[in-house]
Amino acid sequence: MGEQKRCPKCKAEKPHSDFYSIKNGRLTGWCKKCMVKYIGEYNRKRRQTRKRDKVCRSCGNPTIPNSSHFCEFHYVASKLRYAVGTKCNDYTQIMLDRLKQQDYKCPYTGEQIILGINAHLDHIKPKSRFPELATDLNNIEWVSAVINHAKADMTKEEFLSQYRITYIGNPN
Ligand SMILES: [Zn+2]
Ligand SMILES: [Zn+2]
Repeated sequence: MGEQKRCPKCKAEKPHSDFYSIKNGRLTGWCKKCMVKYIGEYNRKRRQTRKRDKVCRSCGNPTIPNSSHFCEFHYVASKLRYAVGTKCNDYTQIMLDRLKQQDYKCPYTGEQIILGINAHLDHIKPKSRFPELATDLNNIEWVSAVINHAKADMTKEEFLSQYRITYIGNPN
């Protein structure tokens, strides 16, 4: 058995491997278990206050009208995490800018798309059939929820020929 260290929080003697190491081989005061518990409780409390105050659970800025959890930026981040599986801030900013470039309109129908209501991220070439393009932002655009569901795993071209609709595209 190696060296032991007492955690002042739970008062237990524990091996050094039960503590996180910080700089120069030093260990955290509290053991891993106590640290994880403390951080978890802190985050949970912060989420609760932020929910009560109707501010973004990620950053504390005001939430958008149609989300009880997120500001505009973090709403887009949550959509991206779901659709693309990434939480990179650069990606989020790019897709938020893209929504503005699209003038908040669905490129298929011209319908207004609103975050928290009907704004969906669509893979132009579906990720089920083109997994190599799953995280390629050039293969992703904002469409209305109805279009996203109807298009399913068709490509843009297949969808357009199937429904005989015209792609309006970015109005700008
Ligand atoms: Zn402890
Ligand atoms: Zn936020």
